[in-house]
Amino acid sequence: MKKAMLAPPPNLQASPRIEFFEGSFDALVHHHGYSITIEPAFPCPCKKRDQAQSICLNCQGSGWTFGTPVQTKAIIQSINRSTKYKDWSEQLIGMANITVEQRFQLSAMDKITMIDSVTISSQNLLVREMTNDGKLFAVATFPIKHIQFLFKFVSVNEPLQMMKLNEDFTFDGDKIIFNDGVKKDDSITVRYGHNIQFAVVDINHDIRNVYLLDDMGREKQSNLPVSAVIQRLHCQMDGLNFAKNNLIYNETV
Ligand SMILES: [Zn+2]
Repeated sequence: MKKAMLAPPPNLQASPRIEFFEGSFDALVHHHGYSITIEPAFPCPCKKRDQAQSICLNCQGSGWTFGTPVQTKAIIQSINRSTKYKDWSEQLIGMANITVEQRFQLSAMDKITMIDSVTISSQNLLVREMTNDGKLFAVATFPIKHIQFLFKFVSVNEPLQMMKLNEDFTFDGDKIIFNDGVKKDDSITVRYGHNIQFAVVDINHDIRNVYLLDDMGREKQSNLPVSAVIQRLHCQMDGLNFAKNNLIYNETV
């Protein structure tokens, strides 16, 4: 590398120096942040040339693999607060801003799960049959926390049939397992609560370096929290199973 020529500093006389207290920024994130997990994303090497292989058990054909989750805290703010007079499109649904401590370096497609927060989704699902024991089940997009209600479709001129938790079905993670009352390829609709999950889509501040003076008056580089733009995961990835509990777990720590 070529040796850089040091440019002379500007005239600093009568210019008071303002210092950041970087510890206060991290403390703010820690005191007021939501509890989250960050799962580092990396592209799956099954994508040899053009596209990920749909039978790949590392990424389920999504092309993205997620490593070991790390639990921490983050400030998460909606960025759709003022939509007035601004460009808006369907691609902007479910966007938010996230700020984490500098030691957690975020990258594109990292998966963020808000572990204390539950949101409601509703989905149409198809009843499937397990190959090993013939049990009937359906798979929701997100791991289920609670089910508000579940209806089975009977016919176009009959009301939907309500199914009861524990009596007709139970659930475990993202799977709804039926005891009775359904057959293979029946269609159900379910409204359920799950943890909110996001994917990192843009990183507007991945580096925030500040220079502080130490006791000897020397400059020392320090870093402030980083922030990124995140989007609800289902707007980014078209997967059947975001819990990925049927996939190979590639540990990264
Ligand atoms: Zn793959």
